[in-house]
Amino acid sequence: MPCVEPVTTVTTAITAGHHAVALLKGITEKIKASGRSEGLSDFIDVQMAMLDLIQKHHEQIWENVQLRQRIHELESDKARDQDLRFDGEVYWKVEGDKKDGPFCQTCYDRDRRLARLHAGKSEAVKWNCTVCNNFVYRGSASNRPVPQMPTDILPGAWAGS
Ligand SMILES: [Zn+2]
Repeated sequence: MPCVEPVTTVTTAITAGHHAVALLKGITEKIKASGRSEGLSDFIDVQMAMLDLIQKHHEQIWENVQLRQRIHELESDKARDQDLRFDGEVYWKVEGDKKDGPFCQTCYDRDRRLARLHAGKSEAVKWNCTVCNNFVYRGSASNRPVPQMPTDILPGAWAGS
C-alpha cells in the first residue's frame, strides 16, 4: 500500500479551511458594509462554528496520517519477520536464494532490531554482538568461559573474621 504524503494531505485541508473562512469573512464584511446588521451576529456564529469544525477536521486528518504511518511500519515489520529464519543460535534474513546475516537473537527478540553479528575473535566464540555484547559460543556449553568469582568476596579474603 503506498503511503500518502502526510504534508500534502494536511496542507490541502488547511488551504480548503482557510478558503472557506475567507469566503465567510468576505460575506460578513459585505453585510456590515450594507448597513443592514440583522443576521450579522448569526453569521459571525457560523464563522466561529466553521473555525471549530476546521480545527477538528485537521485533528482527524493528522490522526489519520499517523495511523497510516503506523500501519505502514507494522506491515514493514511483518514483511521483515516473514523473511527471518532462526537456526537455533542466530537469525538469518532469507530472500529467495539470498541469505544475509547472521543477526543477534537477543537484540531482535528484545528490541526488534537487526544487529549484525561479528565473527568471534577467539576459538570458543562463534559470533559476538557489538550492540548488546552477547556472545554465541561454538559447540557445547563446556566451551563457555567459567565466570570468575570476584576475589574480594572469596572466603579467604575475609582474613581475621
Ligand atoms: Zn545483540
